Amino acid sequence: MDETVDEAFIRRAVEACDLAALRVALYQATGDAELAGFGPVVALDPADQARLKERAVHLLATRSGRFERRVPSDDELRELMDLVLGVPTRDEHFEVRRKFLAFTPYPFQFERPPGAAPVPEGFEVAIIGAGPAGIAMAVQLGRLGIPYTLYDRRDEIGGTWSIHKYPDIRVDTLSITYEFSFDDEYPWSEYFARGEEVRRYLELMADKYGVREHVRLEHDLEDARFDEESSTWHLRFQGPKGERVGRDANVVVSAAGVFAKTKRPDIPGVDEFEGTILHPTQWTDDIDVRGKRVAVFGNGSTGVQLLAPVAREAAHVSVFQRTPQWIAPRPNYGRAVEPEVRWLFDNLPGYWNWCRYTSIINLMTWHEDYLIPDPEWEKQGGYITQKSEQLRDFMVDYIKEQIGDRPDLLEKLVPDYAPMVRRPVVDNGWYQALTRDNVDLVTAGVERITKKGIETADGKHHEVDLIVFATGFEVDQFLWPATYHGEQGLNLREYWGERSPRAYLSMMVPHFPNFFMLYGPNSQPVSGGVSLPSWFQIYAAYIAQCLHAMFEGGHAKVAVDEDAFEAHNADLDAVASELAFLKDTRSVDRNYYVGADRRLVVNTPYETAELYAMMKEPKLDELEFGS
Ligand SMILES: Cc1cc2nc3c(=O)[nH]c(=O)nc-3n(C[C@H](O)[C@H](O)[C@H](O)COP(=O)(O)OP(=O)(O)OC[C@H]3O[C@@H](n4cnc5c(N)ncnc54)[C@H](O)[C@@H]3O)c2cc1C
Repeated sequence: MDETVDEAFIRRAVEACDLAALRVALYQATGDAELAGFGPVVALDPADQARLKERAVHLLATRSGRFERRVPSDDELRELMDLVLGVPTRDEHFEVRRKFLAFTPYPFQFERPPGAAPVPEGFEVAIIGAGPAGIAMAVQLGRLGIPYTLYDRRDEIGGTWSIHKYPDIRVDTLSITYEFSFDDEYPWSEYFARGEEVRRYLELMADKYGVREHVRLEHDLEDARFDEESSTWHLRFQGPKGERVGRDANVVVSAAGVFAKTKRPDIPGVDEFEGTILHPTQWTDDIDVRGKRVAVFGNGSTGVQLLAPVAREAAHVSVFQRTPQWIAPRPNYGRAVEPEVRWLFDNLPGYWNWCRYTSIINLMTWHEDYLIPDPEWEKQGGYITQKSEQLRDFMVDYIKEQIGDRPDLLEKLVPDYAPMVRRPVVDNGWYQALTRDNVDLVTAGVERITKKGIETADGKHHEVDLIVFATGFEVDQFLWPATYHGEQGLNLREYWGERSPRAYLSMMVPHFPNFFMLYGPNSQPVSGGVSLPSWFQIYAAYIAQCLHAMFEGGHAKVAVDEDAFEAHNADLDAVASELAFLKDTRSVDRNYYVGADRRLVVNTPYETAELYAMMKEPKLDELEFGS
């Protein structure tokens, strides 16, 4: 054992780590019966916790260096999973949880069987977008030997993490879940990695998995047309020098994300403002807020991340709030991964896997806890569910604790809708920033923007030098501004028409053969039960299986059958209509998950295991193949 790793070091590791994950990983590594004797860690009393920690210290001090990496059998896995919550894992949950644990390499990926039909000569896939989704698709295709080119309009890889450079940008889901399941070696420096680190991680993945050489940056897809004669797509890009570039591909996979079109409030007078107006996507390193009077619109994830660092430097900040948000604390947010915990990741096989598991497992009951209104509870006068109200009480206490003796703020900050029906926002010192002398929370309606500032309905004029519109994105404008034309020149936007966009399994649209989306309508997992990079691998594997079926059948094209598409969406809408996203009338019209036509459009309404069951392999009778 390394000399620096003495007993004191190990004790610190055990104190700082995820104890539930440590316990299961250690049990897996040692089979120590005493470890199995404890109940679930969340329910342990302090004395039992102390005993468990002692046992863990002893085992790590005497056995580390002799642990072996091995893949547990399914029976062993079940036993280990059951230890975490102390209840048996339901059969329907087992498979996706096993994959999420990622003990086997490439757990979500599709492998072509030996003797599979060769990839046709000259066949090529165009992937549009070099963010996490595009890279997941590229790695999957690369492993199958299917030629592809990955295009992005930007001059670097990274997607969201290249587009956003505002102060304090970081993931608000744990770094170890915001990564690909096929690589467990990245030494995240923080529990919630900063944007630049995520971008560097994606660059590294592109290099490590052979994606880089397929990337064409500064290629902005403007138009894609399906040619029925040749069953290929003709793509038109704007190239690096603004020139038109034409490329053909057999298949197009859009990995364009949903955060392309920025949303700005429609306020009269915007053009008269003499200072600077910025959307956070326009933030660059040379923006200096020192000594400036700043207005921040928006209290979603971005507005909340950037307020505290801006308030520390600016002369004054006015925060314009339209609707209060539930903004919650998250353990270890903003914290570096301790060297002792890093040592566990590096030296205790299974610790990484079980940390991923424990971080998602509690989210798996999100539906029944917060999203499916409980009629019994509502009959007694409750709102949504008992757990939802308990969470509400917890959050209200948290707000009170953060703002201290400021009842004037409290009444403006507590939302009337239920927690978890809009995207959860993680507190980055937002509430405390509001209590600073140089910060005002403005809830009066905004009337207009003047040359020097902002006028509100209470007759006040707020003089500012810089306005930050952290007001999000037009998320239902999928693929914007690129145009896609399918069979007989059908325009995708026209096909969707006035209704909010919809797709089959979030990926396919009838009459658009050989076209798939990775962050399409209703693709976002509700509970975060399995993180987005994992879902992108699941979607990529589904697409790969469709291509495999094409090759096997000697077909040149695949599309979804229109009846299957309609039936899927009817089911999806019915499931969604029972969820609090749509039932909580206090928030339904101000929820980015929901389209203007009150249809759930960004999230999937399905639970993790249900969604995985739908996605893990294509139902070939719902697809149409052709030459
Ligand atoms: C500020 C912010 C913070 C977030 N934090 C989290 C988080 O903590 N956890 C989480 O799970 N999710 C988070 N998300 C959601 C996040 O977008 C996804 O996790 C992820 O980045 C989506 O990956 P993607 O590859 O689908 O899209 P993106 O990362 O958005 O990448 C899309 C890429 O496609 C390119 N592109 C688009 N259209 C074209 C075109 N026509 N031609 C060429 N290139 C094109 C874009 O330039 C971009 O590089 C966050 C989003 C934002 C905006």
